Amino acid sequence: MRKRILLMLCLGAVPMMAAQQSMPLVTKVPAGKWAIVMHGGAGVIERSSMTPERDAAYRAGLDEAIHAAAKVLDANGSAVDAVEAGLRVLEDNPLFNAGKGAVFSADGRNELDAAIMDGRTMKAGAVAGVTRTKNPISLAKAVMEKSQFVLLSGVGADQFAASVGLQQVDPSYFFTEERWDSLVRQLKREGKPIPPRPAGAPPAPAKPIAQLETPAAHKWGTTGIVVRDRAGNIAAGTTTGGLTGKEFGRIGDSPIIGAGTYASDQSCGVSATGTGEYFIRLTVARTICALVQYKGMRLQDAVNDVIDGQLTAMKGDGGVIAMTPDGQIAWGFNTPGMFRARLVEGGTVQMGIYKDEP
Ligand code: ASP
Repeated sequence: MRKRILLMLCLGAVPMMAAQQSMPLVTKVPAGKWAIVMHGGAGVIERSSMTPERDAAYRAGLDEAIHAAAKVLDANGSAVDAVEAGLRVLEDNPLFNAGKGAVFSADGRNELDAAIMDGRTMKAGAVAGVTRTKNPISLAKAVMEKSQFVLLSGVGADQFAASVGLQQVDPSYFFTEERWDSLVRQLKREGKPIPPRPAGAPPAPAKPIAQLETPAAHKWGTTGIVVRDRAGNIAAGTTTGGLTGKEFGRIGDSPIIGAGTYASDQSCGVSATGTGEYFIRLTVARTICALVQYKGMRLQDAVNDVIDGQLTAMKGDGGVIAMTPDGQIAWGFNTPGMFRARLVEGGTVQMGIYKDEP
């Protein structure tokens, strides 16, 4: 045994084993098959802070979304349509910080950001700070396909959504008690004023609700998907409520092309989650793809370079999922956990939440 350990040390095998903790089981998807990789947010997600029911509910949510995307691909749909289909499911699931269940801004509003990019055409669409469009990822896709712009914001973005027939809802649709409770607790901690309970929200519960989020864990639940379709095209999308307690119309990295979302058939597709300010300054998604494109790096090495290297050195937190047109799948995160799943045509879903899962 001692001999084996010594040999491993000599061969440099110990660091490799450590790096394998977040290595995907499938690293190369055969040509002609589709593949999906998705995340449901990163943060202080630990077994000790999860109940078995909660753990199972998150996994069921990821499973439902990945199968919605798979259904599109099985019918020979495009990567872009699969990204939209999968993310709509996560937006409709109140567990995730996107669509219904989005976190609240400091003034008690749900302001939603989303982006989608088509690696085949390099077209992109994004929205920031929307408050009435039920599925912001569909709005991002409409911006890409039906407008001459890339990024729309606020009231105008919702108006555009209505003009192209996307479902509009009262802002109270996005309300969940748990996210409201997170906001109130965060604002109390920071000594900031608590906004009035939003109009249209259900009456406050008589008893305090069970909260699983720790102060550091408020970033759970942003969602993103990267897909390669059977034709070998890549698309990526991200949708989020942003950060709890955000102020002054703050916009994160998710709708910023090249920061939280990027796709190019010349390099790779990436969707990010974490404290957006770092991801914007490091242009995380584009940097990963540039390392693949210009330095010829393996995708997982590029992810590790940016997440374990540059992001961590800057004291930023979060993670990414990524895929190349030649079928490499990768993910990486420097937080204790990241909700994540992947599926290759003909295979079974591989899923993880905590750091020690493959
Ligand atoms: N990246 C998102 C933002 O900064 C939040 C998240 O991923 O949890 O808006």
